[in-house]
Amino acid sequence: MNRFTINSFTKNIISIAVSCAVLAPSLAQADGEVNVYSARKEALIKPLLDKFEAQSGVTVNLITGKADALLQRLKIEGKASPADMFITVDAGRLQRAKEAGVLQAIQSERLNNAIPENLRDADNLWFGLSQRARTIFFAKDKVKPSQLSTYEALAEPQWKGKICLRSSNNIYNQSLVASMIDNIGNEATLDWATKLVKNAAKPPSGGDTDQIKAVAAGVCEVTLANTYYFGRIMNSDKASDKKLIEKVALFWPNQQDRGVHMNVSGAGITKHARHKENAIKLLEFMTSPESQAWYASVNSEFPVLKQAETSPSLESWGSFKADSIALNKLGENNRAAVELMDKAGWK
Ligand code: FE
Repeated sequence: MNRFTINSFTKNIISIAVSCAVLAPSLAQADGEVNVYSARKEALIKPLLDKFEAQSGVTVNLITGKADALLQRLKIEGKASPADMFITVDAGRLQRAKEAGVLQAIQSERLNNAIPENLRDADNLWFGLSQRARTIFFAKDKVKPSQLSTYEALAEPQWKGKICLRSSNNIYNQSLVASMIDNIGNEATLDWATKLVKNAAKPPSGGDTDQIKAVAAGVCEVTLANTYYFGRIMNSDKASDKKLIEKVALFWPNQQDRGVHMNVSGAGITKHARHKENAIKLLEFMTSPESQAWYASVNSEFPVLKQAETSPSLESWGSFKADSIALNKLGENNRAAVELMDKAGWK
């Protein structure tokens, strides 16, 4: 039995069996409510949901969990699912939800106007809500920015023993590889990944923050990580983080060609949503200028809404060219990416 926290307006906490055949009739089914399954950590979504509740009067019931577990749960629950919305943090996973048939198409002019076309599903089944760049981080005392250029160039022999990598089972790297398959083809990507892995300072391990810390600690000189992890360290009050940030800088690769690999956190409305109208309202709220500015200030993510305010940390990174690949492709190429990384010896 797993426990999920359900944060309703009344702050109820109830426990639910994950083996869900008898799922939660106690979850909201009346009007004026919306039920959210979120793979996004509570601290990074609940404040926004609270604001929506206050503004709209619609009660939001939040269940958080791991993306694949929530997706599995949606599949098993089928028509009986209380969920109205599924939130997760990678285009690859949003596409998995689409392919699993647990989402429905939403026609909303507001969403279409707010979210650039490449950051939402071509069939309107999911919508990107915040962007993150997966970019290069380097040790300031060992690497000059002039030595860096592209993701591809990290496979060159000069980086032998100098790169830290997260493991291949992490979806962020899978999505980066998926984007490269689309951009430079299978063969060139396999060749790149094989050489990249050979340049590693140590076997892949740890999360994105661990990679940045390893660069600061001198374990390696360069790595790949999502920008908001760096933003969190930048905005931390800890003395150790302040030291760390003095040692590491970010670099925007591929500025002469396709641009930096981008990903999104996003959401879709479930196929059997009982509170579809409220779920659409919530999705639209998440793309409002206020919500979009919140993503930037609270988690150093790039708004999907062009007019939205950003934050001092985002501004400090400067402007850059982002890869405009349709993010559907990250999911469509996911299986090929996983197979390719396996062939390349990327553990
Ligand atoms: Fe993350």
